[in-house]
Amino acid sequence: MTHELLAICDACKRPVADGEGTLWIDMTEVNEATVNERAWEQLEAEKLAPGVQSYSAESLMSYPDPARWRVHHAACDPAPNANAYAIEVHRCRTAGESAGARITPAVRPHVSR
Ligand SMILES: [Zn+2]
Repeated sequence: MTHELLAICDACKRPVADGEGTLWIDMTEVNEATVNERAWEQLEAEKLAPGVQSYSAESLMSYPDPARWRVHHAACDPAPNANAYAIEVHRCRTAGESAGARITPAVRPHVSR
């Protein structure tokens, strides 16, 4: 059984056909999320022993948000010049394709507005 990914554009909420868009993540947000996560750990971790840390359940409420994957048509992309890691939608349509670990980042097209 093959399951096919249906990519829906975050902006216009319509499906993204092959060649029309990308699944992407802003690497600046990834770096910020990493910095925020490390800062949170330093503030919230209780070091029980070398290499063993504990966090209170209450502290988890302030855990920083991760960077978010997005899907956009090239024409709908709100940040076409972002420092992005992008994968063309057609390259991750099926579980078999994405599990093949042969996904390569796409060069994001620069769209004039
Ligand atoms: Zn769109």
